[in-house]
Amino acid sequence: MRRKLPLAIAPTTLSLWAQCPRKGAFRTIAKLRTPPTRGMLDGQEGHRYVEDYCRDGTTPPQTEYMGRVVGDILAHLPEPGTARVEQRVKIDTGAADWYFHGRLDAYVYPSRIVDPKFYSEASRRYMHSTESLRTDPQCLIYSAWADATPVEFTMLYVIKPPRTKRGKAKAEPVRVVLTDDEIDRGLDALDSIAEQIVYWYTHVTDPNDVPHNADAACGGTGIGCDYAAHCRLF
Ligand code: SF4
Repeated sequence: MRRKLPLAIAPTTLSLWAQCPRKGAFRTIAKLRTPPTRGMLDGQEGHRYVEDYCRDGTTPPQTEYMGRVVGDILAHLPEPGTARVEQRVKIDTGAADWYFHGRLDAYVYPSRIVDPKFYSEASRRYMHSTESLRTDPQCLIYSAWADATPVEFTMLYVIKPPRTKRGKAKAEPVRVVLTDDEIDRGLDALDSIAEQIVYWYTHVTDPNDVPHNADAACGGTGIGCDYAAHCRLF
């Protein structure tokens, strides 16, 4: 099968394939996309306000729900004018058939990265611990791009208050400091996942031909998987 290589692989793609290769294949091979959820739209809006504030100190609009959310956590963001925002990242690990790419939210030269994530109370269970953040594809790929090591990477979880109430958003940063060796080892592990992705990408057209990981990924129920309706298990 002829498919264009090298394949550009994003951190979310690596995370999906690590959870369940078939789930990843629905996105990478079948290119299925799900409609954006309310949480995703909030995240996009919140990131715009973060970007404006980090770039030139623009205060988020307090008339908007997400403007108030970001307004509550400004103290956790880099000082205006000190960070590069929405920075495109490309990491070539030497493999001929793939490279890693992404877009990081706020980078303070030479070695500090801040990546906000907007969560509801109900999503807390998906938050990283410091241990799991160390092996997260986004953390590793962005850290590999920084100009100096060790890299201080902060996943800035912002817990949104309910829309119907006038509560304050809470910032709950999870921070790690990564050395050169840790980043290298992490990238080796990501290369192993990428190798599998490229194999299936170049060998099948139907994601249902890719092995699944149902027990661990969806408990064998499909619950929580955006692609369950397409998965031949059900
Ligand atoms: S429904 Fe379960 S087994 Fe099927 S793709 Fe989704 S996570 Fe994988």
